[in-house]
Amino acid sequence: MRYTAEEKAIVDAWPTVTAEDIENINNLFPHHLFFRSSKGADYMELWSSCCGRHEHYQILQRTEDNRHWDITAQRHNAKVQCPYCGRSATMKSLSKSGKRKSLEAYLLVMVLHSGQDAMYGDALCITKNYETEADLTAKPLYRCDSGYRFAMGHVMQIDHWGSAMYVTHERESLGRQKRVREPFKSGSMSGYVYPPYHVLNREVLDQHPAFRYSAYFTNWQYRPFGPRGYAQLFSDFVSYFTAYSIYPKQVEMLCKAGLWGPLTDMVVHRKKNAAALDWSEPDIRKAMRLTKAELKQFLQKCYPIAVLELRNYAERHWGKSWTLDNCARRLEDWGCNWREIARFITKHRLSPRKLEEYLILQICFRDPDVFISLDDAFEIYRDYLNAAYEIGHCLEHSAVLYPDDLCQAHDDATREQTRLHEKALSNQQAISTKERAEKYEFELDGMKIIFPKTAGAIKREGTKLNHCVGGYAKRHIEGVLTILFLRWSDEPTTPYVTIEMRGNRINQIHGFNNDWAGQNPQQKHKEFLETWLRWLRAGSKRDADGIPILPKVRKRKDVAA
Ligand SMILES: [Zn+2]
Repeated sequence: MRYTAEEKAIVDAWPTVTAEDIENINNLFPHHLFFRSSKGADYMELWSSCCGRHEHYQILQRTEDNRHWDITAQRHNAKVQCPYCGRSATMKSLSKSGKRKSLEAYLLVMVLHSGQDAMYGDALCITKNYETEADLTAKPLYRCDSGYRFAMGHVMQIDHWGSAMYVTHERESLGRQKRVREPFKSGSMSGYVYPPYHVLNREVLDQHPAFRYSAYFTNWQYRPFGPRGYAQLFSDFVSYFTAYSIYPKQVEMLCKAGLWGPLTDMVVHRKKNAAALDWSEPDIRKAMRLTKAELKQFLQKCYPIAVLELRNYAERHWGKSWTLDNCARRLEDWGCNWREIARFITKHRLSPRKLEEYLILQICFRDPDVFISLDDAFEIYRDYLNAAYEIGHCLEHSAVLYPDDLCQAHDDATREQTRLHEKALSNQQAISTKERAEKYEFELDGMKIIFPKTAGAIKREGTKLNHCVGGYAKRHIEGVLTILFLRWSDEPTTPYVTIEMRGNRINQIHGFNNDWAGQNPQQKHKEFLETWLRWLRAGSKRDADGIPILPKVRKRKDVAA
């Protein structure tokens, strides 16, 4: 490894692990008081792992106090206080503890040191064993895994691999990819593991002018679902201080304001929420483009950060200046696909408000008995508009964009779209219904998959289950898509769950009323469906009697090349 001049200077000035550090590390281990006694002797031999003493301990009959008695009682595994340093320890008889393999211990520790204008962290793997007599009182052994230097605007990590060293930097701004990472990496390319570790010399943080307000052990640990200060082990120390070194003011302010969402996104996932938050702006209010009152409101109502994203989007693409309340309400109505909806609105140059009002009138409250949510209504609308576009309607006309009867227009347009698809398909060889049925039909453990052979069967299924599958009947018969029925084997004629397939993939799966207030059938029958899909993908093999032959389950997952 060749260092640059800058790296060489930093490595040369790196603080060393001191004897005091080792002493403190030793204190993280459970302490033992080893003993051996000789017959008839008025002393016992003691070794203390806490303070490293090896001495003859006088067994005095008349002057002994309770503590003295605890030790001279010579009970293996008794809890006592070390006679030399007073720390709690466990008595271990050398004659009973063999080679003391079970006492061997292993710890991961981050030791902090203060430097001129930086904070240093050494990630050490520590071991203690008690095999020989010398080991009984020896200090723990350590190996340096990684070293970190946190300075304002620059974080450096040195990894030690045997005698080789690798240096990584993060400077000025943080990207999506973490270059400086947590220490103690193990595992393989397919999945690295970063085990948690102790953090020693925490007072370095309080005393360091640059890190005094980093709030890691105060605010950050007390975030919702955080360890609330009880933690002994940490797994995000490096990630947090990397973010803090690059964006000190921003992290401080987010921490202080309790905006844990965007802060966690940054620290853990390196997600910047750039559409909502400007990380290059140290003043959080300016970074979020909020007035003082708005920030207060934002914090009080615990808005998700997406509220700001939608506000910015509306401003940039539609020239609207929506209030936070307004954005929050829309986020709720538009559901988790709100970004898609927003992009769709932009693409077709629609008015968000007009579209909302239109969909509410046409779909959401069309049937007084069934309320359909806005995001579902939007999907129907998008289906319609895509179909209208495909069949050649002009999307500039408001009569096309906002038809008087959307449901009617939807059915007409999708029917016409299907007809066009069929026309395109007519050149291809039609697959016979029998072949398709053989490909899909399946039965296992009391459930079966049925391939409907008539449009009437599909329409009946739609009516019974109160969902829209009826509209797919024609396309199913034509082979544009495939509709399947999932039913109980003992009630093969009773509609239960309907599946729409695209090739070997489930495109939609719904039970009664589109699973309104019910459990998702894909989850409920996960095992059956997965077995069936695996069989399907393996080529729908059957034996001579037509019984499906299940493919063997492979132990290891194939790794994608
Ligand atoms: Zn001691």
